[in-house]
Amino acid sequence: MKESLEYVYKEQKELSIYSGIGALLGWDQMTYMPSDGSSDRAEQTALISRLAHEKTTADALYDHVRKLNETITFAQLKEHDKLVVTRLKKDLEKTRKIPSAFIEKISKTTTLAYQAWEEARAKKNFYHFAPHLEKIIELEKEYCTYINLPGHPYNSLLDDYEEGMTVDILKKEFTYLRKNLIEILDKIKTSTLFQKQKPFQKTLSIENQKKLCNYFIKKMNLSKTKFRLDVSTHPFTTSIGNNDVRITTNFERKNPLFSFYSTIHEVGHALYELNLPQNEYKDTVISDSPSLGLHESQSRFWENMIARNKHFWVFFYPVFQKIVPKKFTTIALDQWYRIINQVQPSLIRVEADELTYCLHIILRFELELMLITDEIKVAEVPDIWDQKIQNYLGVRPHNDVEGALQDMHWSGGSFGYFPTYAIGSIYAAQLFQTLLKHHPDTLQNIEQGDFASIITWLQNNIHQYGRLMTADDIIKTCCGEGLNSQRYISYLKDKYYTLYNI
Ligand code: ZN
Repeated sequence: MKESLEYVYKEQKELSIYSGIGALLGWDQMTYMPSDGSSDRAEQTALISRLAHEKTTADALYDHVRKLNETITFAQLKEHDKLVVTRLKKDLEKTRKIPSAFIEKISKTTTLAYQAWEEARAKKNFYHFAPHLEKIIELEKEYCTYINLPGHPYNSLLDDYEEGMTVDILKKEFTYLRKNLIEILDKIKTSTLFQKQKPFQKTLSIENQKKLCNYFIKKMNLSKTKFRLDVSTHPFTTSIGNNDVRITTNFERKNPLFSFYSTIHEVGHALYELNLPQNEYKDTVISDSPSLGLHESQSRFWENMIARNKHFWVFFYPVFQKIVPKKFTTIALDQWYRIINQVQPSLIRVEADELTYCLHIILRFELELMLITDEIKVAEVPDIWDQKIQNYLGVRPHNDVEGALQDMHWSGGSFGYFPTYAIGSIYAAQLFQTLLKHHPDTLQNIEQGDFASIITWLQNNIHQYGRLMTADDIIKTCCGEGLNSQRYISYLKDKYYTLYNI
């Protein structure tokens, strides 16, 4: 038993090291690597992924894990060892269902598909990418037959990002969400304030944008010894080690607050990463987040529920006005609060406002379901896309880059990923409502720029669990119920009906 335990912990530790090396290679590639480094970097990354995959699928590891899970041995294990080996067995059994030839096939197909996707974007022509997407969908279907979870085949894809989530649950939640989001949006569109609103076109220097980001980071007490902020095309968060989390932003976007809000978003992810369980769970399968949706709930919670909240700006507006140039300072707080929460249906998901964002997600979820079940052909995607976005948001793409070619997810074979963004928004609203119930003084604290009690609350209710429970169970334990889009809709109605005087 001792030998097996030592073996299992040693292998997990090495896997965690591989994962850190892979993350470092990826972070460098997105931030500082000169472009000619890309072919060597591709080989370096591929080697680390292959070594990690070989370690995960090695018979020796599985044999030891199985021995530890045998009834008599298992009963003698310490509590935390029991939890680690149970989780690890489940993970390994899933990975071992996938033949290594398939891994190779999907990796080659997606590498080519990514190139084709970039070329198709340059040509603004979906049909250049379509044959690659067809191959990927065939592979996704093949993957579903290996994992073979009960119910809808797409459940096997969802499970990689959101363990236990099913098509049945999402269909129910998203149908409600879609109907209500469209209703709210229609009401807003007919309001006088919407009809009078103008796009915000002021710009902020990079230096001032940096000052705003750094002020917030300092306010969140993120230690400089554990954390870095750098620049990349698309903002992201990655963990190199338990005490080394990197986030990125971009200061070149049109929206003057893009860097500020994307930094807050990534700080939400970073706080979660830095607070994952350590001690007996350090470098084990437990020290991770159970789902992308729960991870996303942490970033959206800070970005939307806190930093787009009126109470946040009561505290932050005087700070903001000291940092930014005079042209901003003539705007009254009420007006400013409206500006940063402006609803404006648009074509591009990553530029969507808080209210319309989930409609972009629901559209993708619906398309993915139809593609996986052969309800539609790949060639039909652009037309169906354009029709859906017209129906949901009242806007229509001029070309495929504004439509079906805008996201890279499908080129990487990430089917089942998109729903986690909407799940994150719903969870975030549930958490915010529960926090206000548990701590009615929260809004006052926010007005004073005091976030310490919120951080502690998230640590105690979300971060500390790692993968000891599924995301759904963590949310149930904290909020008294699982995923519930009604909570999100009531949060949005409260906020946006007030904003637009409805
Ligand atoms: Zn995120």
